[in-house]
Amino acid sequence: MKKENLLTLLILGALVLGVLVGQFLLFDPSLSAEALRSRVDPWRIAGELVFIRPLMMLIIPLVFVSVVSGVTSIGNPQRLGIIGGATALYYVGTTLVAVLLGLSLVNLVNPGSGVAIEQLESAGQRTFESDVQGRLTGRPGDVGGSFLSLLYQMIPDNPLRSAVDREVLGVVVFAILIGLALVMSGEPARPAIKLIDGLFHALMKLVTWIIWLAPIGIVCIVASRVGEKGLAALVGPLSKYVLTVIVGLLIHLLVVLPAILAVFGRTNPYRFLWSLRKVIVTAFSTASSNATLPVTIEECQTSGGCSRRAANFVVPLGATVNMNGTALYEAVAVSFLFQLFGIDLSLTQQLIILITATLAAIGAAGIPGAGLVTMAIVINAVNASLTAVGGEGVEPLPLWTIGIILGVDRILDMCRTVLNVMGDAVGARIITRLAPDEPDERERALG
Ligand code: ASP
Repeated sequence: MKKENLLTLLILGALVLGVLVGQFLLFDPSLSAEALRSRVDPWRIAGELVFIRPLMMLIIPLVFVSVVSGVTSIGNPQRLGIIGGATALYYVGTTLVAVLLGLSLVNLVNPGSGVAIEQLESAGQRTFESDVQGRLTGRPGDVGGSFLSLLYQMIPDNPLRSAVDREVLGVVVFAILIGLALVMSGEPARPAIKLIDGLFHALMKLVTWIIWLAPIGIVCIVASRVGEKGLAALVGPLSKYVLTVIVGLLIHLLVVLPAILAVFGRTNPYRFLWSLRKVIVTAFSTASSNATLPVTIEECQTSGGCSRRAANFVVPLGATVNMNGTALYEAVAVSFLFQLFGIDLSLTQQLIILITATLAAIGAAGIPGAGLVTMAIVINAVNASLTAVGGEGVEPLPLWTIGIILGVDRILDMCRTVLNVMGDAVGARIITRLAPDEPDERERALG
C-alpha cells in the first residue's frame, strides 16, 4: 500500500474509533458534568500533546514565512493589489451566499417553532446565565466595537505581541508589508528572500512529520469531544436545529463551493475536495481553522494543485477572515433562538442578520467556540432594531439564551470549521488561475 493511502486509511479509521471510544467507553449519562470532564480529560490532554500543540507551534512562524514568501513571489505590487482584490471579493461573496443559504433554510424548516422552553430545561439544554456571561465578558458585543477591534488587530503597534497573542491577522498584515518592502528593495534584499524561502521549506517538512501523528491525535481529541456530551444531545429537542445547520453546511460544501470552483477555477471540484481529505479531517477534529492552517497550506500545494503564490497568501488570510461555516451557523442559530421565543423577524431584521453575521464571522478567531461568542453581536443588532421599531415595550432576546445551544455547539463547531477551512482552500485554487507559479519571475523582479 502506498504511504499516502495508508495515512488516509489511518486518519479515517481514527475518526471512527474516536467516536466509538467517546460514545461507548467514556460517555455515561449517569455521571455529573464534572465527573465526565475528569474522565475525558486524559484523552483531551493526550490529543493536545500529540497533535494540536505541535500544529499550534508552527502557526505563527508559518504564517509569517508563508505570507512573506507568497508576496515576494508575486513580486509586483500592482499584481498583488489585483490578487488581493479578487481574494477579498471571493471572501465576501461566498460569506454572503452562506448567510443567505442559512437564512433560507431556517425560514423554511422553522426549527424553533413547536419547541417549548420547558422541554429544553428538562432535557438539560438550558445552561445558566452565568455560564454564557462568562464567555461573553470582555468581548465587544456590538458591530462598531468588534469592527474597531478588528482594525486594531490589522494595524498592530507591536507585531511581536500579535504573534504572542496568536492574533494571526496582525502577523499577516505585517508579513505583507515586509514582503512588499523586500521586493522593492531589490538586490540587497535578495539574501533575506532566500532565507525566508529556505525556512518555508523547512516548516513544510515539519508539517509532513506532524501529519503522521494525526491518527493518534484524532482518536484522542474526537473521543474526548464526543465523550463529554454524548451523541444523544443531538437527537433531543434541538435535533431539528442541528439538522438545519448540518444540511446548510453540506449544501454549501458540496453544491455551492463546487459550483464556484468549477466556474471560476475550471477544476473538477469533487476531485479537489477528495484530494484535501486530510485537511477536512484535521479541521473536523480540532475545530480550529488556526490549528489546521499548517496542514491546509501544505496540502493545498501538494495534493490540491494550488500555486505556492496563491496558497501562501490566500490561506493564512482566509483562516482568520473567511469563515463561510461560521457565518451560515450564526444566521441559523440566531434565527432559531428568536423563533424559539416566538419573536417574528421582519425582512429588515433578516437583512441585519445578513450583514452582522457576515461581520461577526470575519471577526471570529479561528479557534474552537469563537462563533458562539461573536453571535452576541448579531443578537444585539437585531434587538436594537426590534426596540427601535416596536418602542420600549418590546422584549429583546436576552443573551443567556445562547446557553440553550451550548450543549450541541461542540459538534456543530467541528462541522462548521470544515467549511471555514475548505472555503479558504477553494479560494486558493481559484486564485491559482490569477497567480500561477512562474519560477523565474521573482528573479526578474529583482533584476
Ligand atoms: N471554530 C471555528 C474555526 O476555527 C470558529 C467558530 O467557532 O465558528 O474556524
